[in-house]
Parts: sequence; C-alpha cells; structure tokens
Amino acid sequence: MRRRRLLGLAIVMSFALLATGCTIDDFFSGFPGLIVVPTPGGGIEIRPGDGATDPGEPGDPSDPSDPSEPDPSDPDPGQDPDPGADPWTIETGWIRADSSRFKTPYYVITAAEPGPTLFIVGGTHGNEPAGYTAAQRIVDELRPDKGRIVVIPRANAAAVAAGTRGVSDLPDLARRFTLGGAPVGKTANEIWDLILEYEPDWFLDLHEGYDFYIKNKNSVGQSVIYYPTGRAYSDARALVDYLNGMPAVRNGRTERFTLIRNPISGSMARKVGQDLGIPAATIETCLKDPLERRVGFHMYAVRFIAAQLGMTLQ
Ligand SMILES: [Zn+2]
Repeated sequence: MRRRRLLGLAIVMSFALLATGCTIDDFFSGFPGLIVVPTPGGGIEIRPGDGATDPGEPGDPSDPSDPSEPDPSDPDPGQDPDPGADPWTIETGWIRADSSRFKTPYYVITAAEPGPTLFIVGGTHGNEPAGYTAAQRIVDELRPDKGRIVVIPRANAAAVAAGTRGVSDLPDLARRFTLGGAPVGKTANEIWDLILEYEPDWFLDLHEGYDFYIKNKNSVGQSVIYYPTGRAYSDARALVDYLNGMPAVRNGRTERFTLIRNPISGSMARKVGQDLGIPAATIETCLKDPLERRVGFHMYAVRFIAAQLGMTLQ
C-alpha cells in the first residue's frame, strides 16, 4: 500500500519536475528526509523512510535545509502538470463565531486527488509564537498533492492577541480536553467537533517550551510528545530522528530533539490519541532558539508527517 502511494507520489513529482525545469536534486534539496532513487526504467522512486534511519546523510553536504534558512528551492506550488484543473479547494470556517475575542479561522485545503487528512493546530498557547506562525505559514504557502490538511492557526485567539499562555476566561486551552468525556468550554468543544468531523489520519499540535528538555526536564522544549496508538510511535520516532539530522542540530547550533510518550492529560493530542485512537503528537520547539529556526522545525515536522502518510506538502 505504501509502495503504491509512493509510486503515485513519484509520478506527480516527475510532472512537477518537468513543469518547473529544475533537477531532482534542486527539487529535493529543501526536504532532506526524502531520498530519490532512479529506477531502471528511467523513473524515480522516493523513499521517505531513509530519513528516519539515516537522517545525518541527506545526500548533499551543502544541503541548505537548515530550518533557520528560507527554502528557495521549493518549486512554485502553482506549477501544476494540468493547467486546466484547479488543483486545490480552500474552505474557511470559524471557531467561536459567537465571540469577538475568541473567533478564529480554520482552513481546509483539499487536493484534487483523494488521500489522507492531516490536522494541524497552532496557537493553543498564545506565548508560543513559532507554533501559530508556522501554522499560518502552512496555510499561506503549502499545498497537499493529495488528501487534505485542516489547520487552526490560532486556537486560543484571545491568548495569541495578548501574547500570553491564556487569558482569564480561558487560561489554558491545553487542559480543556477531558479524557473520556466532553471537553470543557465552547472553544474546546468547537475544536473537538471539527476534529470529529474531519477524522484525521494524523493530528499535530504545535507548541514551544522555555528550555531544552534534554538539559532541563522541567520544560519540554525540543521534543515530540506522542500518544502510543497505531502508527504514532514509528512515525514520531522517525520524526525525531529526522529533526535531529537537520543541519542546525548536527552542527551543534541547537540541542537535539527527544521523543516523549503521552501528551499531558487535558491536551488535544492526548484526547485525540487516547479517545479516538488517531495518531497524535504535540511538537515542541524551544524559545531559546531564533524564531525562524523554530518556525522551520515546525514546518519540517508537519511536512515529514505528511510524507509518512504518503502526502507531499509543497
Ligand atoms: Zn504550549
């Protein structure tokens, strides 16, 4: 099944390469977790799994994939092999349309080709800017080649506006998702309804910690916190290896990521994993890194999980 999906991915990529005129190396230099292997028939095969086992060797030593850098090698997502088709539909809706303070948009970006659903949340905590910046940038810049992404960039809009973890009437949205029952409060309930409606194949909540977990166990910065259900462990393990293979980590400019089991009770990822059996994780960057690097880690993490599902986000 995975092989068939990858073959489809390879075909789409081949068209994209023809359309943009760039080489395979150009095309993939911004996404070091994907390995491109020429096949005897003259085509290409793409193996995302290699990034999991050997992330330190993405193939190109001058690889510009430091997440602190922009990603100029990405092809224009508008370059579709069939110029007559509209490749994506983008629907927008609202969480908390009843409230001027908590009203916040969500986006459903659907490719023409059916496929998996990836659900992404940012801004659960308003003082963790890399999460909501990355989520908004995903909406603005990335498109799936198949399936769909559902994104809530600023889940606690009032907290994001205030730049604080929460606000007095919603102090911590990551403690509202009660296990085994209904979430607490309107915002959490509306987010939960959206998750139930779209039945994602993977769920990611983008956060930040004040310190590096590997140095200070009081903070979960620079970690992937997964709930062990289905493919969640293997994908999250591969994600941590992938992130630790990125140049900023390899070259010692920042600390290594750690894989942690069980998001905290009351968080979205915990309830999605435990109550729905859907692979789910909280991604944590560290506030001690520069913002662009943190945003880059989040975006690469989202793209990596998408690739694990056989979906390319570009
Ligand atoms: Zn957080």
